[in-house]
Amino acid sequence: MTSPVSASSSPLIVWFRQDLRLNDNPALAAAAASGRPVIALYILETATGDWALGSAARWWLHHSLAKLTAALRKQYGLQLVLRRGNPATLLPALLRETDAGAVYWSRVYEPAGISRDTTIKAALQTSSIEVETHNAALLFEPWTVKTQAGGWFKVFTPFWRACLAQPSPAPQRAPKTLTPYTGALDSDALDSWGLLPTRPDWAGGLRDSWTPGEAGATERLQAFIDKDLYRYADGRDRPDLNCTSRLSPHLHFGEISPRQVWHAVQMAADQGGAGIAQNAAKFLSEIGWREFCHHLLFHFPTLPQQNFRSDFDAFPWNPNADHVKAWQAGSTGYPIVDAGMRQLWHTGWMHNRVRMIAASFLIKHLLQDWRVGEAWFWDTLVDANLANNAGGWQWVAGSGADAAPYFRIFNPIMQGEKFDPEGDYVRRWVPELAQLPNKYIHKPWAAPDGVLKQAGLVLGRDYPLPVVDHDTARKAALAAFAALRNDA
Ligand code: FAD
Repeated sequence: MTSPVSASSSPLIVWFRQDLRLNDNPALAAAAASGRPVIALYILETATGDWALGSAARWWLHHSLAKLTAALRKQYGLQLVLRRGNPATLLPALLRETDAGAVYWSRVYEPAGISRDTTIKAALQTSSIEVETHNAALLFEPWTVKTQAGGWFKVFTPFWRACLAQPSPAPQRAPKTLTPYTGALDSDALDSWGLLPTRPDWAGGLRDSWTPGEAGATERLQAFIDKDLYRYADGRDRPDLNCTSRLSPHLHFGEISPRQVWHAVQMAADQGGAGIAQNAAKFLSEIGWREFCHHLLFHFPTLPQQNFRSDFDAFPWNPNADHVKAWQAGSTGYPIVDAGMRQLWHTGWMHNRVRMIAASFLIKHLLQDWRVGEAWFWDTLVDANLANNAGGWQWVAGSGADAAPYFRIFNPIMQGEKFDPEGDYVRRWVPELAQLPNKYIHKPWAAPDGVLKQAGLVLGRDYPLPVVDHDTARKAALAAFAALRNDA
């Protein structure tokens, strides 16, 4: 490495990762403020271990990078350099190529990302390269929130209380100008990365459902505040109402920051009176769960693969490939579960309440290891996020921190009747049941023959019979749990 540390006017690399935006991007803002020529870089990592990008996330990333490329060019005349491989070798290569003397980036919190960044930072600093890292992804970084004894939190409510006692985080606007590096730089063509599915192109449902990129994220936030925030607290559990923010993939890829979300929602609450304030507080506490999951992952880095509660290690799972396949395909015979799994397959997203029901069904009714479901979600969710996904699965399994107790087993019929009372959600995603009256929409097997006939439905042909009986499965799950407790 030849760049001298004193070269304070030498070019500077902004290494984009999960911060694919211009606004409230402190690394980009610091680069602009330095006045140095800026090089914008994104690296598609080839060696990413167990948690390589899933298929739906790859689709999203392609579009998000295309949008970021266009925005950087339009706003600053800046090229986004795309390179593929190992950042530990690609970064020094680009530094040499451009005589750059500094790299700025936004911190990540996944264990593999932390160890990669730590190694790279040390190597660059040894070579007298200036490295600056920033917080772009969280309201409160995991090491800043501490219990009174100085430890980390394992329960959400006191964690969030401690967060709320800190000063509210404020977002920054995008820099108005910056000095782009003007040398010619080789860049991969985005299309050459093959992030989009081709044979077959299964992404039609994703295209219809989402607008990846910073502008899409900003519009989504505004639409949520205008149309749905006022009914969030009561409506968030109703998949038929579809009134949650659907910001999760935008937040995951950093197309919008939690600070921006926090600030906009707080402003709406301040202007909107008590009704909005109560809904805003509920919504922000869900952003709090995102923070909590990252806190847990940071302090318990094996969260994605290891039971948080080690007494679950002896759980008697009952592996069954046919049952897993039925669950993945949305053909378990339980309409609310199948609707959720089909929504996931079609759009890359599933409503939170239904994620809980579908996950619970896999774990407790089918006795499949939660890691099997976690892996499927990882591949199919556009918002697949290591912390939130592992946190969600362990919460449902009962093996996690502050988790639902294992013995609380969701009844998929009652959950459907309560949270999709008219059956609209099921009719949308399981159209073969569309003609069933509300009374049977969540339990078609209970419908009399005449009702089935009138609905044009033959069970076992048009729609499956239940893959397991609810009462029998519930008893088996409780027995498995009891066996675990006796072993402990
Ligand atoms: P909103 O209700 O509008 O919430 C706003 C934001 O808060 C979300 O975008 C998300 O960033 C955060 N949030 C909300 N609920 C949670 C939660 N329970 N845990 C953590 N953060 C939350 N979320 C992911 O982002 N990625 C995942 O891979 C993921 N996997 C999950 C797996 C399971 C089994 C379960 C039960 C939940 C999972 N979640 C995951 C959490 C939650 O389901 C989604 O964040 C939420 O459904 C996203 O929709 P939304 O943006 O409309 O949420």
